[in-house]
Amino acid sequence: CGIVGYVGAQSALDVVIAGLKRLEYRGYDSAGVAVLADGGLAAAKKAGKLLNLEKELTDRPLPSGSTGIGHTRWATHGGPTDANAHPHLDNAGRVAVVHNGIIENFAALRAELAERGHDLASETDTEVVAHLLAEEFSSCGELAEAMRLVCRRLDGAFTLVAVHADEPDVVVGARRNSPLVVGVGDGEAFLASDVAAFIAHTRSAIELGQDQVVELRRDGVTVTDFDGAPAEVRSYHVDWDASA
Ligand code: GLU
Repeated sequence: CGIVGYVGAQSALDVVIAGLKRLEYRGYDSAGVAVLADGGLAAAKKAGKLLNLEKELTDRPLPSGSTGIGHTRWATHGGPTDANAHPHLDNAGRVAVVHNGIIENFAALRAELAERGHDLASETDTEVVAHLLAEEFSSCGELAEAMRLVCRRLDGAFTLVAVHADEPDVVVGARRNSPLVVGVGDGEAFLASDVAAFIAHTRSAIELGQDQVVELRRDGVTVTDFDGAPAEVRSYHVDWDASA
């Protein structure tokens, strides 16, 4: 439902939680975050309101890092439980992904992954993406390329945002039939399903086109299509009132 990603110099957790709060008006049934820190990946997710997640983060704080992603979920596949909340991780706990939309061919992909020995921990259509990204990353070594390869195998509507512990200063996003906007700041960059999530930080935005992948780093963004061809980037200034 709501998606936020961040890479920069601030605490990713603070930026992501504040962004998710700006998207709360859309409604959701669970929430979660993942942060890259100390060479690893740490995640927390809870059914219910963002307050539940914030309580969990107070009880069991995550290490602080400056790359992170977050999600508020509106369940379509699998009930609104902690296990089904996003982010979803691969079995090694190195990659985390959040998703809006529906992966239509998830059942076939789940069966394929189970056959290759993957252990799926949720009932969602989303979780297959984390496992597929981990597989592709282990052969290509680059999260943006892994995302392009995985997207080519997905049917349905999706906004996907992912991080990998082996690429600590990168957030990758992709979209098909579901919105995703990039915010470009000074030494930081944002990804969100809606500009409301980052408008407190920057008004310089890029709207991602259909079937595109974006790689976010502190010093800039790279956009390609699902085949890796550079895409034309349409930048614009967000001029509506942030308090609206
Ligand atoms: N289909 C996914 C799920 O049920 C994503 C739902 C959403 O858009 O929030 O977990």
